[in-house]
Amino acid sequence: MRSVWGTLSGVVMVLSLVGAAYAQSDAHSSSGANAAVAREKAIDDLVTAYHVLYHEGIVDAFGHITVRDPANPSHYLMAKSVQPPFVTRADIVELDADSNPVSKDAGHVPLERFIHGEIYRLRPDVNSVVHSHAAAVLPFTVAKDAPLRAICHTCGFLGAGAPLFEIREYAGDGSNMLVQNKALGAALAKTLGQNKVVLMRGHGFTAAGGSVKEAVYNAINTVLDAKVEMDALRLGNVTYLSDAEAAAVSKTHNASLDFSWEVWAKRASGELR
Ligand SMILES: [Zn+2]
Repeated sequence: MRSVWGTLSGVVMVLSLVGAAYAQSDAHSSSGANAAVAREKAIDDLVTAYHVLYHEGIVDAFGHITVRDPANPSHYLMAKSVQPPFVTRADIVELDADSNPVSKDAGHVPLERFIHGEIYRLRPDVNSVVHSHAAAVLPFTVAKDAPLRAICHTCGFLGAGAPLFEIREYAGDGSNMLVQNKALGAALAKTLGQNKVVLMRGHGFTAAGGSVKEAVYNAINTVLDAKVEMDALRLGNVTYLSDAEAAAVSKTHNASLDFSWEVWAKRASGELR
């Protein structure tokens, strides 16, 4: 009798273990399926974002946006070396944590991809990064006494001023100005710190966000802020947002990113003029 009970309890234990294993496998396949769906959505948003940034004058032939890979958060997704207005889903490639293409067939990838990879490494809260050479921002990357600060109510994320990355401190005074290796990417990410935007002397800027929509919003409004600040400085003394105002308007705008995104996306697709 004792041996029958022993056998029965053994069978029950095995069945329980098998059940638990099935449940675990279901959970894994379900989270895997969710990640796959999120990845497809991220690629859709990324392609749209390239077109939006081009149409809004933030990038031209150069400049890029990336998104952290929802299926593998240490990796990120980016268009290979294609001009932003021409990017399609077929151009999106996966890069690893060291900014190497995962596929051997990825083709040419942007030289400055290390900007993105090193920011993702340092900032777990950042899920999307834009790099731009927009001319309106350039004066603020070279003028020593005019920091780019939050000046209007859509630009609170700039706070008391975007930090400036001086590439000469890391690459000497004879570099090609491009952030084209891990060490320079890491130095840029460190300069960004906990900010949303970092200026790059004589080169452009990089904006970060918790989503593709936020990174695009921050990039577009960085350029807007630069234009408004430049005009205002021509008129004389300027009043900037206070720290509390900057924080308050950021909170409001982060809650309505979809609202702006819809207009930008439809304008980029030709649905709106
Ligand atoms: Zn660049």
